[in-house]
Order: sequence, then structure tokens, then C-alpha cells
Amino acid sequence: ASPVKQDFIRQIVRDDLASGKHAAIKTRFPPEPNGYLHIGHVRAICTDFGIAEEFGGRCNLRFDDTNPAKEDPEYVQAIQDDVRWLGFDWHELRHASDYFEVFYLAAEKLIRQGDAFVCDLTAEQVREYRGTLTQPGRESPYRNRSVEENLDLFRRMRAGEFPDGARTLRAKIDMASGNINLRDPALYRIKHVPHQNTGDAWCIYPMYDFAHSLSDAIEGITHSLCTLEFEDHRPLYDWCVDKVDLAHHPELLKPLTDKGFPFEAAKPRQIEFSRLNINYTVMSKRKLMALVQDGLVDGWDDPRMPTLQGIRRRGYTPRALRLFVERLGLSKQNALIDFSVLENTLREDLDARAPRRMAVLDPIRMVLTNLPEDYEATLRFANHPKDASFGERDVPFAREVWIERDDFAEVPPKGFKRLIPGGEVRLRGAGIVRCDEVVKNGAGEVVELRCTLDLDSRPGLPGADRKVKGTIHWVSARHAVPAEVRLYERLFAVPDPDNDEGGKTYKDHLNPDSRRTVRGYVEPAAANAQPEQSFQFERLGYFVADRYDHRADAPVFNRSVTLRDGWTG
Ligand code: ATP
Ligand code: MG
Ligand code: MG
Repeated sequence: ASPVKQDFIRQIVRDDLASGKHAAIKTRFPPEPNGYLHIGHVRAICTDFGIAEEFGGRCNLRFDDTNPAKEDPEYVQAIQDDVRWLGFDWHELRHASDYFEVFYLAAEKLIRQGDAFVCDLTAEQVREYRGTLTQPGRESPYRNRSVEENLDLFRRMRAGEFPDGARTLRAKIDMASGNINLRDPALYRIKHVPHQNTGDAWCIYPMYDFAHSLSDAIEGITHSLCTLEFEDHRPLYDWCVDKVDLAHHPELLKPLTDKGFPFEAAKPRQIEFSRLNINYTVMSKRKLMALVQDGLVDGWDDPRMPTLQGIRRRGYTPRALRLFVERLGLSKQNALIDFSVLENTLREDLDARAPRRMAVLDPIRMVLTNLPEDYEATLRFANHPKDASFGERDVPFAREVWIERDDFAEVPPKGFKRLIPGGEVRLRGAGIVRCDEVVKNGAGEVVELRCTLDLDSRPGLPGADRKVKGTIHWVSARHAVPAEVRLYERLFAVPDPDNDEGGKTYKDHLNPDSRRTVRGYVEPAAANAQPEQSFQFERLGYFVADRYDHRADAPVFNRSVTLRDGWTG
């Protein structure tokens, strides 16, 4: 069992359960379906779903779909897939738009209470009137309209009588508040735009703070967990919840009860935690969208993208991602996490879980001249050096094998331990070979090494323990399966791609070498992989069979991460 997690949010939950404030807790994960989820969202998902799970509570998946222009059912589907892939499931799937009628009734209630008014200022005027951090705002000239006039105008807004931007419904709070969010914030805007869930039913849409707080209240969310940038919105969140007071006004929920929608109004508490930021990447959905639209990457699921679809294709596992955010924990301090921390967590996971295979990515031919032409042997290899439960596999061996070009050096650099002319090296699991002859083509490139296998050094024979300095991997040329291997590096060349010094943007900081595709050879037991299966290719790194392109007869592997942190930036 993993140790009990300690952080300030779990402590609040523990206290609330101990004091009897809540008999059970309820949370929600509220993405806006305007893009794909990214690594940052993993922290929110693990927090919302994870805490509910740990404390025997429930967590809803709610699409915060109040901004129709940018939203799309494609994202709604992908977000569900991503949450499930991470290993979580929701209590109920909701859309904020399921509650549009309730929000509308709540807005009328605010108008009747004198807590909201219809304002005719333009967006630009509203900005002027708002004031600044050091200067109080000015009240709108429309602030003192009568309840009747406000109700009439608001109903006509809904009926579609006014063009986009002509009017807003605003909360009547305090134009002198030190918190700008409380200076009569907009609650509704006019937008003649069809909505991915409600179609043409509405031409007015609620603003985020109003919709979000009331959605939480409608669903009986006890702990509404979100990122720090919403800290300044909390007073407005509480204002909306308190002024509407759904818990004591069941008539506002009638549109839902009429449809048989279950609900359980409660007073939610918003708690903020820090965003997860990682260097060498960007994580705003807007910027990720631009990379896709400008063709700078191959799509949302490009293995270099920090989207969950992307890193999944790269070979990141849900276990590594969950471990990563779990170890970072939750706090109130924003911090920038080093990309290598993420990579090390993946290495750790794959080291324990990925079977070993052999592959040669930059091949040269080695001929073992003392073996008969038709020599063939089947060697038994352990699938994992540290875990016998992975079992063993057959690895075919024959007179000709592929080895890595850089495991041979005609003129060895200092300290070189692998094969040199006249020297010896061990072919992993097969025996010791001596290089007798180097064959070159007309251009002077090495194309073949003619070698002798020391027959006494084969596994199980008395000479098998003879010491040589190096051991290299190989694949039998006759049995090897040609494979496409995509070697990925970080998408950005600099730790802080958002740094805009010198008029540059993140698009100027892309790493030109972030993808290199090579043709290599893999042993048959690697070619046979299922899509998304991970391996350690010995001495090369961790690779995953591509989710979409891999086939046993035409293998495609993506490098997930190298064996060691070799990033030199
Ligand atoms: P972005 O700014 O990248 O577009 P967002 O915050 O607008 O992201 P939402 O879809 O609204 O994205 O996010 C859903 C939830 O995920 C929110 O509660 C949000 O606070 C949380 N979240 C988003 N990004 C991060 C992050 N980097 N770290 C932790 N939580 C995040
Ligand atoms: Mg958002
Ligand atoms: Mg956003």
C-alpha cells in the first residue's frame, strides 16, 4: 500500500469528514472542451479524482462549456478518453450547459433581489469604468435601472432582440472593491453562436465565474479544487453561491427535476493549488493549438506534444504520470519542474515494467566466417534482467548479424571498449567474436566486418566466462525485421520557450532536431508487439510500438526516452 498522502487539501478533507461537516465528499474535474488535455491537467485530474477515491467520495467529469465559439465535440470525446486512460472514472458526466436553464432562473432571481442589472456599456467602456489596481472603478450609468426594466431587458436579451455585445447582465457588487473581480462583473453576454451541446437554444451565455460556482452548487460539490489563478475569483465564487442560495431555493432546480436529472445542491468550498509547469515545453491550450494549426507539429497527438494524446503516443504510461504528480505533491507555490524529473519517472517505470529486446538502429553487417552458411541456432534470453516473472524468449542467431555502426571503430577513441580491427567483443548471449577483416565500399565506408566466433565461448560452454572488455547487442540478419524508428527529442531547444526577449515567440524556440526517423532492424519478438507495447531496446533506450502506425510486418517504434539523461540543451 502506498503511504498516506499528506497535503493541505487532504488535511482539509480529513478535517471536514472528522468534524461531520460532510458525511461524504464530492469533487469534479471541470475542463473546458476547447482543446486537448496536457500534462498540467494530470495534476488536476489526479487531485480531483484521486482525493475523491481515497476518501470514499465521488468525482464528476464536468465540461465547462460556456464559451461556444471555441468548443467542439471532438475535444469532449478526447478528454473522456484521456481521463479513462489515466485510470480514472467519473461518478457522473455533466456539462455546465445542462444547467443553462437553472443559471437563467438564478440570474432572474439576482435581478429581483437587486443584485444584478442589465448594462448597455460597450466592452471598451466597461474596461474604462473598471478602474485599476490602484484606482477604484466608476459605477455604470445603467446600474440603477428598476427591477422591472432589468427583467424586461434580460428577457429580451434571451429572446434574441439585441446583437452581440450590445448589453450584458452584470452583478451589482462594489465598484470600489480592492478585488477587481468584484467590480460589477459580467454574468451574461450576448453571443449569437450555436453551442456544441445546446445547439441554437441560446443566444446569451453565462460567464465562467457565475456558471462554475453554480454548477458546483447544483452538483453538490463539497470541495471545488482548482488552480491558483482562481484565488482572486473566490470572493465572486462565494458571492454567486450565497446570493443564489440554491440549497434553499429548490424552485430554481425545477428545470432539472422536470427532466429527471439528479442533483444535490450544497454549498461548495473552492480551494486552490499551484499549477504544474515544466520547462522545455509550453502548456497553454492556445499555444498548443497554434503549433498544430501552423503545421509545426503533426497534430495534437504528435509524440513531441505535451498533450496526453501526444505523450501517450510517445510511450509515457499512466503509471509514470500518476507517480510524477504524486511525488511533486500539492502546494500553494507555483514552481517550474525540470523536464528531466518527468523523464526519470518514466525511466523508472519502464525499467521495472518493460521487457528487453534487441534492435539495431544504424546497422553494419557482421559475418561470422567460421560458421557454416546455413548455421542457425535459437538462443534463450531472459526478458528482464531483474525480474524472472517476465520469462524468457527465443532469439534466433545465424552466421550473419547486424550490429550498430558505432560499436565498431577502425581508429578507436581513447577508452573505447567495443570492437576494433583484430580486437574482441562479446555478442550479447552468443559468444565472443574477433574482427579479422574490415570490408569497405568504393567511398571508403565500412560495409561489413568479417569475424570469427570463438566457439568455446558460446553460452553454457567452458569458455563462456572468458573476460572481454565490451558486450554489444545484435540481431540475426536473416531473421531481423526491418523497422521504422522515430527518435524524438524535446520539442523546444530552450528551458523557457515562453521567454519573449528580442521579440521572439515560443515558435522561434522549436528544437530543429526534435524528430529523426531511421530504418533499423528489430528481433522478431519485438516486431510482434501490440501497438502501445513498451520495450527497452538494450543499450538504446525505451521504445513503444506506435499506437497507430505499428504493424507486426511493418513495425514502427517511437523512442520514449533514452536510457540516461543525455540532454545537453
Ligand atoms: P490552459 O490555460 O492550458 O488552456 P485551462 O486552465 O484553461 O488550461 P481547463 O480546461 O479550464 O484548462 O482546465 C481544467 C482544470 O485543469 C482546471 O481546474 C484547471 O485549473 C486545471 N489545470 C489546467 N492546467 C493546469 C496545470 N498546468 N496544472 C494544474 N492544473 C491545471
Ligand atoms: Mg479554463
Ligand atoms: Mg485556458
